[in-house]
Amino acid sequence: MVTPSNSREIRLAARPVGWPVATDFELVEVPMPAPGPGQVLIRNLAMSVDPAMRGRMSDAESYAPPFEIGAPMQGLAVGEVVMSDIESVRTGDLVVHGLGWREYAAVDARHTMRIDPDLAPPTAYLGVLGMPGLTAYAGLLEVAALAEGDVVFVSGAAGAVGSVAGQVARLKGAARVVGSAGSPAKVRYLTEELGFDAAFDYKDGPVAEQLRAAAPDGIDVYFDNVGGEHLEAAVGALRLHGRIAMCGGISGYNATEPAPGPRNLMRFVTHRLTMRGFLVSDHAALRSEFLREVGGWVRDGSLRYRETVVEGLENAPDALIGMMRGENVGKMVVTL
Ligand code: NDP
Repeated sequence: MVTPSNSREIRLAARPVGWPVATDFELVEVPMPAPGPGQVLIRNLAMSVDPAMRGRMSDAESYAPPFEIGAPMQGLAVGEVVMSDIESVRTGDLVVHGLGWREYAAVDARHTMRIDPDLAPPTAYLGVLGMPGLTAYAGLLEVAALAEGDVVFVSGAAGAVGSVAGQVARLKGAARVVGSAGSPAKVRYLTEELGFDAAFDYKDGPVAEQLRAAAPDGIDVYFDNVGGEHLEAAVGALRLHGRIAMCGGISGYNATEPAPGPRNLMRFVTHRLTMRGFLVSDHAALRSEFLREVGGWVRDGSLRYRETVVEGLENAPDALIGMMRGENVGKMVVTL
């Protein structure tokens, strides 16, 4: 295949204060990257926009270094290898790698992961069968130690991680799965398509009240994607020895001031609660089991997923902002 002489990439132009705006990003045409020793050239087919990218746009302490101003942004992408002289990664292979936000990338072959397009389309490896899916699986099973009969509450439940977390809970024998999301359509999606036992729109009223109505006898596990009011409500609903898998806190990612935490932390003492934060990267050893089990559920239809697809690299900033505003159902991906 003849590759063009130029590629395009999106760079961080400025660090956002509060919500990102269009001028924080810059679309730039650059010469086609030339693979160095050990590298392959990849044409990106789709890229992910993730909440964690918002953190990396700021110069704040995090588990991943901030993006540099004037440098291309980074993130997971799935692409086709178009040039390779490496035995283990062949031209034509479809791979996941970490250099999204650009059309072509020269990537170390050892940092690519081949995908199986017969199991699911390539974009699924950015969502249900990719990092967000593994986050849900690991968070629920290893971090929250889900047990049969647990009552589970998942926030951000119609998103990439949450929609898998709720379904894994159901498939692994939870007694009741409750989800929260930000629109009536998402609430219907949870109960009518994904098999949640109950769901509510957190914009309809206090989370604590709505959670009490959805889980009158309390909860055993809270999978937290949101933080803030959701977290306080969940702490208030947890039963004896309840567990929280602290996955993220998207309600605060665009805040300009730190917000106070839950006011009911004494319940950790009275109810012997546990809260554990985690990063998906700590659970990489679970990947093959995850792919086998969740891949099987996707194949036989017992676990369902949706994607919200935005077309065009130039629209990736809008996709990132839109995802944080809740415009996605399931994984937000950008096709190139
Ligand atoms: P989603 O696909 O869930 O998209 C983000 C969603 O967040 C939006 O669709 C929106 O849905 C919801 N949201 C935005 N603002 C608020 C708010 N103020 N209150 C409640 N919900 C809000 O994203 P991901 O599945 O990729 O990520 C979900 C969470 O998991 C994030 O916190 C992320 O940081 C975390 N994460 C953590 C990882 C780890 O290793 N610990 C790895 C991957 C993700 P709605 O319409 O319902 O408001």
